[in-house]
Amino acid sequence: MEPLVRGDCHAHMILDAVYWKDAISRHSEAVDTDYVRGVLERYREAGMTYVRDGGDTHGVCQYAARIAPEYGIEYRQPAFAMHRKGRYGNIVGFAYSDLNEFRMMMQMAVAQGADFIKIMVSGILDFHEAGKMSCEPLPPEEIRTLVDMVHDAGLAVMLHINESRAVLPAIEAGADSLEHGFYMDEECLAALAEHRDATVWIPSIAPVGNQIGSGRFPDEVLRTIVRGQQERVRYAVEHGARIALGSDAGAYAVPHVTGAQDEYRYLKEALAPCRTEEEIQKMLRENEEWIRRRFRRS
Ligand SMILES: [Zn+2]
Repeated sequence: MEPLVRGDCHAHMILDAVYWKDAISRHSEAVDTDYVRGVLERYREAGMTYVRDGGDTHGVCQYAARIAPEYGIEYRQPAFAMHRKGRYGNIVGFAYSDLNEFRMMMQMAVAQGADFIKIMVSGILDFHEAGKMSCEPLPPEEIRTLVDMVHDAGLAVMLHINESRAVLPAIEAGADSLEHGFYMDEECLAALAEHRDATVWIPSIAPVGNQIGSGRFPDEVLRTIVRGQQERVRYAVEHGARIALGSDAGAYAVPHVTGAQDEYRYLKEALAPCRTEEEIQKMLRENEEWIRRRFRRS
């Protein structure tokens, strides 16, 4: 029987869904190859054949990509993510202080076998207050310049991004994939639909929804954020936007494999009023295929 979920378009092999510091220190001396093989084995057992990694600073996703074919898995990765110095992104990447440095790091990622470039545009959600972020996003001009630089190098770009004021310029610049994308307004969602041939949105609801009941944050706030994202997913799909399944597996409370299944459940719940399960599956498969084609070195 075909598995319900065939791929996860946003995961981090280096993270283990428990505590990020311990997870990363597992690989501090060298990549823990047994650990990586164990995770890939779980993907294989679940019948999953595609993983797109969001990057790390220890060569873990690069190692996973090298051995994944042994498990029948197409594994794509950016080597490491990049963020502007002083902003969010240390967990999964390195900092650039100017555009020259960004260009050099991009070349370094490519030399290390990156399939695409990953950039951190925004901060992370504040789970104490819906609508609030940990920091300001990059200014629109910088977002446009970075996207252009990646495209000029002949690569696709995956953006960690939230809020309309960051997402809208990213869509207009032709960013290939928008990760998370919380707090988009109607104008932004309409632009997403209009640019469906250029841009895919990965709403990653599991990292929020899976924390409900954990006692770490107010459940009511988490529920509000999840509901808001699900409403936007429905609006976007009804207006023709391209949406794919990516769980951010490895993030707190989002284990590899089951995180993707959880994400499927959140998306299904969001789309139940307007799409049959068969239609949802078909849509997610088509959009995963679109990502498979675009996020690889041609
Ligand atoms: Zn991520």
